[in-house]
Amino acid sequence: MQLFEIIAFDADDTLWHSERLYVAAQDKVEHLLAERYGVDGLEQALYRTEMRNLPLYGFGIKAFALSTIETAVRLTGGRIRGNDVGQIVGWVQEMLRAEVELLDGVKETVARLSRSHTLLVVTKGDLLDQERKLARSGIAHHFGAIEILSDKDEGRYRALLARHGVDARRFLMVGNSLRSDVLPVVALGGQAVYIPAEVTWAHEAVDAPGPEAGGYHQLSHMSLLPDLIAQIEKQL
Ligand SMILES: [Mg+2]
Repeated sequence: MQLFEIIAFDADDTLWHSERLYVAAQDKVEHLLAERYGVDGLEQALYRTEMRNLPLYGFGIKAFALSTIETAVRLTGGRIRGNDVGQIVGWVQEMLRAEVELLDGVKETVARLSRSHTLLVVTKGDLLDQERKLARSGIAHHFGAIEILSDKDEGRYRALLARHGVDARRFLMVGNSLRSDVLPVVALGGQAVYIPAEVTWAHEAVDAPGPEAGGYHQLSHMSLLPDLIAQIEKQL
């Protein structure tokens, strides 16, 4: 029986909770702007700023911080006080220091699969932040490597497969984003498992065909992954 040579996991909102930290920080900034400056509409304005800055900053908490401050300055017409900017920076530092909370079923699933397969973490975001989260996660020893990409598109996945000397057909990617974890891998001829998260960043939401038409697998829970992999490998 042929096995997957590599099973790769996305990190944020696949292995551990992440998006809810952003949502909570954004709520705090929204309240600050409303109470002290009578300003609202942060969410839409911030998203536009983030999209415009993506080519400059890439992904992650520090990019979020700079875009949030820029948006707050603009929405308040430059009236935001230094102390309030300092408060926002403090909230961002809390995000970076937050405990890593694994999603339900991750610890057992990763431990189990690591006995039969080579596992990778494939993520984007800040290098230091992702390394720190993996180190604190308690599951780092199950992974052969961590790959931190500036974006997760077809070209970068192709380069990753070449670096590891793996044929796309024997590569499986697991993640919560159709845009970043599933569609580019399927386009290269690899296999992908989509496990939707409770909250997903607007940028990762795409209109995509369902699992059957889209050629990927979908699960409601991480703990179902080992059985699905056994099934797929029977057909490989
Ligand atoms: Mg993710």
